[in-house]
Amino acid sequence: MTGKSEVQAEREKGDAAPDGEKHKRKLAMYWAASCGGCEIALLGINEKILTVSDAFDIAFWPCIADGKVHDVEAMPDGSIDLCLFNGAIRNSENEYMARLLRAKSKILVAFGSCAIDGGIPGLANLSSRKELLDTVYQDLPATENPDHLRPQVETTVEEGTLHLPLFYKTLKTLSQCVAVDYYLPGCPPEPEQIWKALTAVLEGRLPEKGAVLGPVSTVCDECPRTRSEKKINRFYRTWQIIPDPDICLLDQGIVCCGIATGAGCGACCPQMNMPCIGCYGPPEGVDDQGAQLMSALGSIIDSRDPDEIDRIIQEGIPDPAGSFYRFSLASSLLRRSQLASKENGKRSPTATGFAESAGIREKAHVGS
Ligand code: SF4
Ligand code: SF4
Ligand code: SF4
Repeated sequence: MTGKSEVQAEREKGDAAPDGEKHKRKLAMYWAASCGGCEIALLGINEKILTVSDAFDIAFWPCIADGKVHDVEAMPDGSIDLCLFNGAIRNSENEYMARLLRAKSKILVAFGSCAIDGGIPGLANLSSRKELLDTVYQDLPATENPDHLRPQVETTVEEGTLHLPLFYKTLKTLSQCVAVDYYLPGCPPEPEQIWKALTAVLEGRLPEKGAVLGPVSTVCDECPRTRSEKKINRFYRTWQIIPDPDICLLDQGIVCCGIATGAGCGACCPQMNMPCIGCYGPPEGVDDQGAQLMSALGSIIDSRDPDEIDRIIQEGIPDPAGSFYRFSLASSLLRRSQLASKENGKRSPTATGFAESAGIREKAHVGS
């Protein structure tokens, strides 16, 4: 399944046009609220990219080839065979493109943790829109904005009206906007997983719609470290301890998210003596990665005294929200901290529940 020749043989069997010409499938790749890493990750398959190039015509891929939205709008529905959509839905343009590419694509893959779970950009759901815009357009030391300007959806100038996308209050995942066919997790997905997914498409071996294209176990299942029933009485930050290379990091008091994170990366971080930070998102059957992590950590703290437990958490995990929901806040049961939005002046019960369940005290209750 790994060789170019196998893929090509399959294509020659099933896809040769009557006149012997190769029938190429159509591929799109799009970035919404994305860092661009997922686009680069596709190149991580190295020389196999030539097989991709041989099998697909690029229908739309703004990162590598000029293409206009009206070109996509003019395509017949379902005319793109495979669309790899990375990045979250942060604004109205992201959502428009998600809906457009959904309509034009036979197979829509949520590619990477931002598209699937909101990823790192999803942590912005801990803050209100006003706080986010104030940070970027006012508060940063490098920002000079004496007139306190903010982006406007419409601006009228002499030449006419200029438009900008609407920045949403809440960042959404791709599947919170459109139907997604498959999920390819990771920040970014590992090249091996990408290649397996591409060959599955080319060879017609895709699983049932809605599936994750990859293993369904956890990072712990791929990790060679030895686990035991250890109890700990403090958590360590990574710079506070040189961990034993053979023993489970969690058992040594380092917050490792492998226990609540989907497999597929080969446990590459723990193998480098660094804890898993959860980038593959929740494994199959887990709705809320952060809750699963809190449950796991709760079971190894060696204390029944609430004050001592509070102290252990506060000293060792100064950012519970970022530690437990680093990649999956937007897809979690909480979805966002309904704090308090200074924009509507209300505090929703969810905010309190979130703070309490995550062990978050006032200081860390970001944006409230
Ligand atoms: S999943 Fe990671 S690599 Fe991909 S766009 Fe998001 S932050 Fe970037
Ligand atoms: S918690 Fe981390 S270190 Fe421990 S077995 Fe799981 S992945 Fe490995
Ligand atoms: S070990 Fe965890 S953080 Fe590292 S690549 Fe794998 S899933 Fe991502």
